[in-house]
Amino acid sequence: MCEFCHKHGEGQRWYLRAENYSEDLLGDLRRRRFIQSFFSSPQHLIEGEGKLGRLNQLPSFVRSVVTPIAVNRQKKSHYGQVVPIEEVERIFAFVNSVVRLPCICRQATVGSEQRYCYGVSMVAQEESQLARMVREIDASYLTGPDTAGLEALSKQEALASLRDLEKNGLCHTVWTLVTPFIGGICNCDRSDCMAMRATIAMGFPAMFRAEYAAEVNPELCNGCRQCMRACQFGAMGYSIAHEKVAIDPRRCYGCGICRAGCTKNAIFLAERSSGPLAQGVW
Ligand code: SF4
Ligand code: SF4
Repeated sequence: MCEFCHKHGEGQRWYLRAENYSEDLLGDLRRRRFIQSFFSSPQHLIEGEGKLGRLNQLPSFVRSVVTPIAVNRQKKSHYGQVVPIEEVERIFAFVNSVVRLPCICRQATVGSEQRYCYGVSMVAQEESQLARMVREIDASYLTGPDTAGLEALSKQEALASLRDLEKNGLCHTVWTLVTPFIGGICNCDRSDCMAMRATIAMGFPAMFRAEYAAEVNPELCNGCRQCMRACQFGAMGYSIAHEKVAIDPRRCYGCGICRAGCTKNAIFLAERSSGPLAQGVW
């Protein structure tokens, strides 16, 4: 289990614990201020990425001291974890409302509204404090089908939409808004999602890997390499000698997206803790 499961999971996966989505946590004034500031403008994300770029230009010994401090600070405010679609289904089994809203990352990177974020709540959407808070923020980038920029979806609609995003190669992630409160599920890609850019390209982990790692069944794999196009983490390799694909468990984030393109059902997710090379790699 990841560090957050130990700290915030009470013996279970932290993102499967209903308390971490509860309205009670939104009573905390510091959290409310953080959320209002976070959604007010994408500018702080652009500035944050600029800071990471400058951090990467520092001598390596300085980076090795500063980076863990900055990551620890990030873990307290806004941190994520990759979740395969089966875990999203388990989250949807106990939350009571889902709203889709524009992704603030994409507003920063692409400069337009892209509806990739799904706010989840333990209460009905109309009663959700988070939805109310986002509605109240005077954020010009929050446009969309209604003036508040939020779309209420049934859980079935939301799941269908997330499955479509998965077919397009997007990786599901859960996110805190002042940890351990979980505000929602996003759908990430390495070109437009700032957290993925930070994690993969800039060496600044902004999310944990999933509690799983993928494996290929060589008996079923025909070496077509369709799956390799989906992996955003560079975890798959093709063996010319064996004419099969293999997954490096030390690089795999356990998103499960590679399975969508495999017509042979040759890829499966295994518990990260059961793999000698994957366990302990977060
Ligand atoms: S898509 Fe499936 S069958 Fe094709 S290479 Fe990947 S694992 Fe093998
Ligand atoms: S190999 Fe791992 S990281 Fe790559 S797509 Fe598959 S599950 Fe995700």
